[in-house]
Amino acid sequence: MAKDEVLECSFCGRKKPETDLLIAGLDAHICDKCIEQAHGIVMEETAQKSSSSLTSELIVKKPKEIKAFIDQYMIGQDKAKRVMSVAVYNHYKRLLQPESKDEDEIEIEKSNIVIVGETGTGKTLIARTIAKMLNVPFCIVDATVLTEAGYVGEDVETILTRLLQAADYDVKKAERGIVFIDEIDKIARKGDNPSITRDVSGEGVQQALLKLLEGSVVNVPPKGGRKHPDQKFIEVNTKDILFMAGGAFSGIDKIIGKRLNRQAVGYSASIKVDKVDEGNLLQYIIPSDLKAFGLIPEIIGRLPVLTHMNPLDAETLRAILTEPKNSIIKQYQKLFEMDGIDFTINETALGYIVDKAVEYKLGARGLRSLCEAILTDAMFELPGTEEIELKITKKYAEDRINQSTLKRLKAVS
Ligand code: ADP
Repeated sequence: MAKDEVLECSFCGRKKPETDLLIAGLDAHICDKCIEQAHGIVMEETAQKSSSSLTSELIVKKPKEIKAFIDQYMIGQDKAKRVMSVAVYNHYKRLLQPESKDEDEIEIEKSNIVIVGETGTGKTLIARTIAKMLNVPFCIVDATVLTEAGYVGEDVETILTRLLQAADYDVKKAERGIVFIDEIDKIARKGDNPSITRDVSGEGVQQALLKLLEGSVVNVPPKGGRKHPDQKFIEVNTKDILFMAGGAFSGIDKIIGKRLNRQAVGYSASIKVDKVDEGNLLQYIIPSDLKAFGLIPEIIGRLPVLTHMNPLDAETLRAILTEPKNSIIKQYQKLFEMDGIDFTINETALGYIVDKAVEYKLGARGLRSLCEAILTDAMFELPGTEEIELKITKKYAEDRINQSTLKRLKAVS
């Protein structure tokens, strides 16, 4: 090359002084502008490829297969499993429908779900398991942190920030994800009647949520919150996002009970009162009970699939300890195995753990804390020793629980 020859971009012909950067290749050069343009083309191509492969990736499992998958991870709750398997099946069938401009085409509506059940009965577990099976982005958000725009707290749009994060900011993937809104009951308004004064925490948030549930294009702050005022918003269409909402709806059993009583003495006395299972009134829940609890009718309309979780009895708790694919006991077995220790626990010890979980009213969540309290000493002491076996008996479990802080729970309750 002659000494005074000016280098130029081999793509656009810009001379080096006209560029911010000129990168040399083997026989050619490329300027910053051409790199940017090429990058844009690559991104567009990959996005197109990924959206068409998303549709082909989406293998819709039949409801029975969905339920069989959930069965591996979750004990009981048959009714909820069936209802949700169908809802999820229909939702993803809806996604596979080619978009049609035909006015007469039957449009399948979204089957967003609301699950009512005491805390620790598996509401989150079922949502998480379904997301795992479908291999779609999944996030859990707590309705209690949400507020109307302009108030202290998080705007509802941040729900989608979480989903975007779960999808590694792949918008197309996020748009087919599942969002689990926990504690939806906490944003109920305080009575059945619309409030005269503004109800910041309740009705306003429900109104704001509507927009997401019904399907619209939402401007999402990618970093969430209001701490980054200059971030660029990302547009997310919620049309194909499946929303599941869960809540304990504490006290709703009384609403259901009252309604059933009214029906029993009223004109529809055909429902026999003696048939009502008073111990589990949630199984009779209908959408109007949610309205009486304080959800606005529009929200109820956008969560058309309603199901419930049964309270966990001792037998179910016992099964939860050992039967699911990744049951708590199997997890500890694996942890000890990694240290070359054979871990076993006998039936009476398991029974003792269940009794304690029932006694302390800890539900399934308590099983984990109880096991942790029983096994922490062993998990601290045994690794690095010659020990190759750990056998847990009721006596061992009892001693550990009596020494632990869990014991104090009884005094508190
Ligand atoms: P919720 O969302 O209803 O408060 P979770 O789904 O978070 O309850 O359940 C708490 C824990 O209890 C989960 O981690 C799960 O391991 C266990 N669990 C609850 N119900 C079941 C069940 N039916 N089968 C297996 N595990 C369960």
